[in-house]
Amino acid sequence: MNKLIELIENAKNIAITGHVSPDGDCIGSTLGLYNYIIENYKDKQVRVCLEKPSMKFAFMNGFELISEDPFVEADLLVTLDASDRERLGIRGGMLDSAKESICIDHHVTNTNFAKFNIVEEFRSSTCELLYTLLSEDKISVATAMCIYTGIVHDSGVFKYQSTTKETMEIAGKLMAKGFDFTKIIDDTYFKKDFNATKLLGLALTNVKQEFDGKCCYGFLDYNTWSKYVSDKKKMDGIIDNLRNIEGVEIALFMYETAKNEYKVSLRSINKNVSSIASALGGGGHIRAAGATVYGNIDELLKDTILPMIEKELNG
Ligand code: 5GP
Ligand code: MN
Repeated sequence: MNKLIELIENAKNIAITGHVSPDGDCIGSTLGLYNYIIENYKDKQVRVCLEKPSMKFAFMNGFELISEDPFVEADLLVTLDASDRERLGIRGGMLDSAKESICIDHHVTNTNFAKFNIVEEFRSSTCELLYTLLSEDKISVATAMCIYTGIVHDSGVFKYQSTTKETMEIAGKLMAKGFDFTKIIDDTYFKKDFNATKLLGLALTNVKQEFDGKCCYGFLDYNTWSKYVSDKKKMDGIIDNLRNIEGVEIALFMYETAKNEYKVSLRSINKNVSSIASALGGGGHIRAAGATVYGNIDELLKDTILPMIEKELNG
């Protein structure tokens, strides 16, 4: 028996959480584990504590029960898809209130911040790793839909380099449970609403090139993006469009979150952007990473971020 299952069996009150600004892998893994526990361990109290996720994931069972507040009475805390304590936001305090804690994650920058840590950075997604810790015959359709969604999102619909033969085999076993996977991929990964599509167009119109086109970067200030979308998660796909520009090796997208505060996203083809994100105080994966930076955007770009990118391109 693995440590996750052992801890679940020995706990009564279980809190499940993930990183701030939860993405498909984070929501899929937290709700996937939630469904697995309530179906197979009827005597447990389980609560998923997460920042409010996008409504496009509302099809997942348990979505409406997600609470933003920490579950302080939990005797076990399971964190999924978070690389460090900071990424848990206010829910990180549960690491102190829970008797036991276990971190399940696949980020190369993971700091082993929980009491027990199962971190496999070669996994396409936290959902893939979670699947390997569960018993196949105890996975219901509801659980399978959550885990499948997370794998789809973090593997870029099975195309990032992190996708392995095992990723595909696991996805195949999940599909065999029987659900509309085309609808999940379309509705949660590809579809964008009208205004978010217009904002994407605006961001692409203003994209800039550096270092002989090996880097493309875009920036949106608060007033501009907030005219189109109220939810910053609706800007999620913009960076992928920059990454897909011919000749680009490192793509950078930034948007203003508050005065002198910016969210930075980095993507690469063959270069290491997790080291750049870490140097900026963030983290992530070799080919997809991010951070929050503070200061004047023009100075940050000129003095800090672009020189780091140049060094990585030449390294
Ligand atoms: P995104 O650019 O989509 O926000 O994030 C890409 C990857 O980098 C994700 O795996 C995400 O968890 C990680 N990441 C993004 N922002 C941060 C951050 O501020 N800190 C850390 N540690 N990781 C981040
Ligand atoms: Mn992930």
